[in-house]
Amino acid sequence: MDLAEKLMLEIEARRADLVELTQDLIRIPTLNPPGNNYREICDFLDRRLVRHGFQTELVRAEGAIGDSDKHPRWNLIARKEGAQPGDCVHFNSHIDVVEVGRGWTTDPFGGEVKDGKVYGRGACDMKGGLAASIIAAEAFIAVCPGFKGAIEISGTADEESGGFGGVAYLAEKGYFSPERVQHVIIPEPLNKDRICLGHRGVWWAEIETHGEIAHGSMPFLGDCAVRHMGAVMAEMEASLFPLLATKRTDMPVVPEGAKQSTLNINSIHGGENEQEEDYTGLPSPCVPDSCRMVLDRRFLIEEDIDEVQAEILNVLTTVQGRRENFRFDVRELQRVLPSMTEKSAPVVQSVARAISEVMGKEADYVVSPGTYDQKHIDRIGRLKNCIAYGPGILDLAHKPDEYVGIDDMVESAQVMGRSLIDLLG
Ligand SMILES: [Zn+2]
Repeated sequence: MDLAEKLMLEIEARRADLVELTQDLIRIPTLNPPGNNYREICDFLDRRLVRHGFQTELVRAEGAIGDSDKHPRWNLIARKEGAQPGDCVHFNSHIDVVEVGRGWTTDPFGGEVKDGKVYGRGACDMKGGLAASIIAAEAFIAVCPGFKGAIEISGTADEESGGFGGVAYLAEKGYFSPERVQHVIIPEPLNKDRICLGHRGVWWAEIETHGEIAHGSMPFLGDCAVRHMGAVMAEMEASLFPLLATKRTDMPVVPEGAKQSTLNINSIHGGENEQEEDYTGLPSPCVPDSCRMVLDRRFLIEEDIDEVQAEILNVLTTVQGRRENFRFDVRELQRVLPSMTEKSAPVVQSVARAISEVMGKEADYVVSPGTYDQKHIDRIGRLKNCIAYGPGILDLAHKPDEYVGIDDMVESAQVMGRSLIDLLG
């Protein structure tokens, strides 16, 4: 039996361990926000990986946004050195999960197994992927103790809220520098036969229109900021949305609708604040002097961030040319440049080979419509050899009755294990 066959069997033999590990991880409710139980899950991973010969480090992202004594941002980094020098392969998973939401028929933190699936919040996004990478690494070390280089596994905080208390913090401290780590696999739920090369860019901004407060019975004495915002929206409908629909990308973004530039208006707020639910009175009559809109613009690798900003300014100055007293501000909330690893990169080639060996089909290449922690590994860590690859169906992420298929976890662990043979064997 050759090494690859041996490893495939070794991973199959650890199926029950893989399921149990996924259940254990789901049962630690790491809700973010606010960032609960990060220390508990890091301690759990620490105990497990130390037992398997890893050196571990617990790192708190002190001073990062979101970090506080009440909700400290803990991260775990584990490293196992091989017997000879060589590259380091790093598996990075986020430990946080999003809110539960309504509509569950199973216990979101119960880790129930039914019909070959493990259920729970974070099952696919991404505790199943974390468990698969741990099993892949442990099985690889067992069958190939003389491997070259090193394997790292990290469990990191806050991916769902931007990753600043997790991968961004670690990247700034050098944990993802090209001298330390050469290949990164992020086991996000992209389906077991697809390699995710990167993601589109993000520009979040808040537009505010200004007016003048007055009594609502005499609006002519004031200036209505909501009407100004209405004119902005009308101009967006007339010129900006049609323009964005014409901008198409060569990035293999999924789903199809995300192959173009998109803009979402996340929220609009103008005038008096919403009252508490138990308030039974009527609103008071005022002309709103401010209206704020939050924009979520997703852009393509072919677009420049300056051009993205200029399009919004163009809408605003066009409106300004038509309306008296039109005053506005634009405030940037967040920017993330698009990221895409080359198909020729070693980690892509290696995982693609492993997918065809394990599954008997060619790998598909995709790009994510939204961002994930690859952005920090690329921009801060300066490491370009990074992909997302892991079990689970992306559409189930953040939904009720989230689950991960057990066969999918086993097969993707086999893919991860085979690429370890390829890169370190
Ligand atoms: Zn995720």
